[in-house]
Amino acid sequence: MNLPIYFDYASTTPVRSEVLNKMLPYFSTHYGNAGSNLHHFGWLAQEAIDLSRNQIASFFNVKPSAIIFTSGATESNNLAIKGFLRDKPKGHLITSTIEHKAVLEIFRQLQKEGYSVTYLNPDAQGQITKESLSNAIRENTLLVSLMMVNNELGTISDYVAFKQICDLQSICYHSDATQAIGKINIDCTNLPHLLSFSGHKIYAPKGIGGLIIHPSFSISPLVYGGGQERGIRSGTLPVPLIVGLGYAFDFIPQMLSCNETLFNFKEKIKNELLIYFKNKILINSHNASTISSLISFSIYGVYWEKIFNSMTAIAISNGSACNVKSTNPSHVLTALGHHRDLALSTLRISLSYMTTEEDVNFLIQYLKEKLAKIIS
Ligand code: PMP
Repeated sequence: MNLPIYFDYASTTPVRSEVLNKMLPYFSTHYGNAGSNLHHFGWLAQEAIDLSRNQIASFFNVKPSAIIFTSGATESNNLAIKGFLRDKPKGHLITSTIEHKAVLEIFRQLQKEGYSVTYLNPDAQGQITKESLSNAIRENTLLVSLMMVNNELGTISDYVAFKQICDLQSICYHSDATQAIGKINIDCTNLPHLLSFSGHKIYAPKGIGGLIIHPSFSISPLVYGGGQERGIRSGTLPVPLIVGLGYAFDFIPQMLSCNETLFNFKEKIKNELLIYFKNKILINSHNASTISSLISFSIYGVYWEKIFNSMTAIAISNGSACNVKSTNPSHVLTALGHHRDLALSTLRISLSYMTTEEDVNFLIQYLKEKLAKIIS
C-alpha cells in the first residue's frame, strides 16, 4: 500500500489518464491558436474546442453557445455575479452564510459598493430552506446565489425549488455547482440560470472551468480584449485544458455509477467511528441529503493542531477552505453553530471512484489508532 493515501478529492482530483492522453497532443503537436482562422493549426484548435463545448452541452442538455470557458469556478462565480449586475441599478442580493469563499467574498465586496445583501443561515442539518429564501425576497431583489452541493458538509441543496422560486419572481438564480458535478444526478430541466463549475474537481486539469448562461440572461464582460467567448470572456483559449474538460464530462456517468459503493464506504466509516468514539465525536454530514463521497466530523475537546500533526499517512482536510495551519475556524461550521474550537477540530474525508475497500479499512484503523491517543 502506497502511503500517504489521498482522501481529499473534494479539494482537488488527479487528471484521469484517459483525459490526459486526449490533452497531450494539444500542447506540442496541435498547438494552434483557435483564433487563427486562416490555417490548419488554428482550425484544429477550433475543432477541439467545439468538440469540448458539445461534450459539455450534451451533458447539461444546453446549447453549446450557453457555455463560457473560464479559468475555474472562482472566475465563473465572479463573472456570473458581477457580470450580471454590471450596468444595472443597485439592489438587493441573496446568498447564504455557507457558500464557498469564491462566492462569499464577492458579496462582501458588493456590499462595500452599496448593494444590500441577505445571508441566509442553514438549519441544523446544514440546509438552506426554500422558506427562508422566499421570506428573504424583496421587491428589488436582483440575484440569488445558492450553491448546489456544499464543499464542507456535502449537503445537497434544493436547487430546483430555489430556481422555481426565482422564476416566479423573475429573479436571476446563480448556483456554484462545483461540488455537485459527478456527485449527484443534476436535473437538467431545472438548471439554475447561471451555473459555475470547475475542471479540477472532476478529474480534468486545474485552471479550467466554465459558466453556463441561460439564454434569457445576459452577462457583461469583466475583462476586455480579443472578444473570445462571445465577447463575455476575452483571452486566448487554453486548448489542452479545454480538451481535458470536455472529455472529463464523458466519464461523469461512470463516476455516478460508483455512488452506491461510496455510500457504503461512507456508512462504514461513520458507523465504525461512532461505535468506537461514541459521543466524543459529532458527525456533521449525517442527514439523507448529502453526497456519498464526503464525511465531515468534529471531535470534542481536542486541540486541532494535535489532530492534524498526528495524521501523516492520510491526506485529509480540516473542512475549511483555509489552510490546515490557519487558526480561522470554518465559516460553514460556525454557521452551523459550532463554537470555534469544535469547528477547528473537524476532519473532512472525501472519497472518489478510485478509493478502494482496502483504503477505507486502512483509514478506519488509522483514525481509531491516532485519535484514541489524543481523545481524552
Ligand atoms: N466553489 C466551490 C464550492 C469549491 O469547492 C471550489 C474549490 N475549492 C471553488 C468554488 C473554487 O474553484 P476553482 O479552484 O476552480 O476556482
